[in-house]
Amino acid sequence: MNIRVGHLYPDYLNIYADRGNIAVLARRAEWRGHRLEVEAVGMSEPLRPGAHDLLYVGGGQDREQLLVAGDMAEKAERLREAVAGGAAVLAVCGGYQLLGRGYRGFHGEDMPGAGILPLETVAGERRMIGDVLLACELEPGEKRTLAGFENHAGRTRLDAGAEPLGRVVAGFGNDGESGYEGCRAGRVVGTYLHGPLLPRNAWLADWLLTQALAHRTCSAEVPRFEPLPDELEAEAHAVSAQRARDRGGRF
Ligand code: GLN
Repeated sequence: MNIRVGHLYPDYLNIYADRGNIAVLARRAEWRGHRLEVEAVGMSEPLRPGAHDLLYVGGGQDREQLLVAGDMAEKAERLREAVAGGAAVLAVCGGYQLLGRGYRGFHGEDMPGAGILPLETVAGERRMIGDVLLACELEPGEKRTLAGFENHAGRTRLDAGAEPLGRVVAGFGNDGESGYEGCRAGRVVGTYLHGPLLPRNAWLADWLLTQALAHRTCSAEVPRFEPLPDELEAEAHAVSAQRARDRGGRF
């Protein structure tokens, strides 16, 4: 099966190992007999709802976000259609902020968001930097941890009742005080974690791939993958998780 990935703004939102995340998705799909077909969707390029099973939006600093925000707002309706049609989405850091209703940058610039995720972000004075560990439960009863690195000035507030991606075990998370990190709405996941995210958290890569496959096959049932040996991946996760634990509490 070809899993079709739309990579939004790869020329602008591409810091923090974003291409590495795509490489992990490609290899893990291949190990299950699938092929990842990646299409760049850049500035002024049309987004065709239904054409992608998974959309990926990477990280960027305020400057790059300012450059793409207007275009993203123009694509917002198509993005919403794609999501309503069951496409999965992974958005990291700057991309995560722009999937909310809006982001006010460090110098007060107001950037419109795509309004896909129920949240808003405003930049604060102090950057939140360091290793992070989260406790997640994307599927009922399947408790997992996510380990990564965060580096953001933006404070993200989730709307009441919105589902975070996880609870902060160590690190700052969305705003340094709520104890939440990221946001999850159905098959859409946004997070500040990078550094790199999927190589350290193979389970999330598999979760995204299975959601994308359900979209690809128009199936109500999400397929399950056989586990892979993942010794190196587990070690990368453990090292990263330990660094976050050593860093200790929040803000
Ligand atoms: N510019 C945003 C912030 O600092 C996002 C940064 C990023 O993508 N690392 O909050």
